[in-house]
Amino acid sequence: MKGICILGATGSIGVSTLDVVARHPELYNVVALTANTNIEDLFQQCLVHHPEFVVVVDTDKALQMQEQISSSPVPDIKVLSGSDALEQVAILDNVDSVMAAIVGAAGLLPTLAAAKAGKNVLLANKEALVMSGAIFMQVIAESGAQLLPIDSEHNAIFQCMPHGYQSGMRASTARRILLTASGGPFREMPLEQLQHVTPAQAVAHPNWDMGKKISVDSATMMNKGLELIEACLLFNMPSEKIQVVIHPQSVIHSMVDYVDGTVLAQMGNPDMRIPIAHAMAWPDRFASGAEPLNIFDVQRLDFATPDLRRFPCLRLAYEAIDAGGIMPAVLNAANEIAVAAFLDGQIRFTGIPQVIERCLENFSADEADSLQTILRVDQQARDISNQIIQEING
Ligand code: NAD
Ligand code: MG
Repeated sequence: MKGICILGATGSIGVSTLDVVARHPELYNVVALTANTNIEDLFQQCLVHHPEFVVVVDTDKALQMQEQISSSPVPDIKVLSGSDALEQVAILDNVDSVMAAIVGAAGLLPTLAAAKAGKNVLLANKEALVMSGAIFMQVIAESGAQLLPIDSEHNAIFQCMPHGYQSGMRASTARRILLTASGGPFREMPLEQLQHVTPAQAVAHPNWDMGKKISVDSATMMNKGLELIEACLLFNMPSEKIQVVIHPQSVIHSMVDYVDGTVLAQMGNPDMRIPIAHAMAWPDRFASGAEPLNIFDVQRLDFATPDLRRFPCLRLAYEAIDAGGIMPAVLNAANEIAVAAFLDGQIRFTGIPQVIERCLENFSADEADSLQTILRVDQQARDISNQIIQEING
């Protein structure tokens, strides 16, 4: 029996994780669930999964949650609040696995805490890894934590790696990684129409049902940019050995091309329960609840190279990883601010890469020598991005 802590339990990945957990009550026990503000969903999850702890980051909402729990059939659940409590529950002794499914930089510290404590880290929160880069991988290596990628592409690559492979190794027989991308909802929209895209259009992804931020990232292809950086780190590969491939059907979730000419691909329906179940059962397998893939329904598999004029965010991500140092952290922070401003109606869809590019111009690729440096740069990049947004509007 393994204990699991789900950071970001109320999100798209959190909900899919609990769905998989519920299929294997003899193997997994829910120790802790966390949410930012959504206590309605968190309360329902408490009734079903009866964790020992819940964390509600927002203090007012945490008080409300405490009242609700006290007069519920599960009054013994301990309610904690504040972001420090996220780290506290991620390192509990009876937690074996931590699902890192908070969106954005807010997930960095609890995910790092889980890694330091040597937990199995099931990593969905790509922003945490992009920001902290080599520092994160170093913590994993030193603590002996098992890092298992949840991002469908990285999980696919992990599954296509040689026997005995661990995240952070360089698979010397792998010639390159083919990182697939759906291309999002605007893959074929005339370029001049992109400036009129609304938030509602941008969050409606053709193949995957996800949180708002990652849906916008998929539409700009910054998601693939962050995933490129994630792949460089997880698989210890230079960016030039990672080819982004537009594959609109989202049936192949990525591929590894080996020196002998073999190309291994992982396929499946686009359902995040597949990589989640893979990581939870690893090195075994168990049922995920996903529909089996009917290859006769697939009919065709298309592949194309991405157009960097259509997707400037992807170009910016290549530039940031190649510059190295703090630049991926700057890219990530600027993107988080720009996406929030777009969702809030403050900037156009095409303003997202403009804000990020202008923000990046304010930095040089200094070494990311400590966590403090990264957190400071993250804050500076957010402040600068907010100024740029004001200038655009002013
Ligand atoms: P989501 O928006 O649906 O959920 C986010 C979760 O994080 C919620 O539980 C929310 O309460 C919590 N949260 C938000 N802000 C917080 C804060 N400041 N402090 C603490 N908790 C906070 O997001 P999602 O789609 O589930 O994505 C989660 C992560 O997984 C992201 O990093 C995303 O890139 C990654 N991911 C998601 C998918 C997917 O299919 N949804 C696929 C691959 C990777
Ligand atoms: Mg992905």
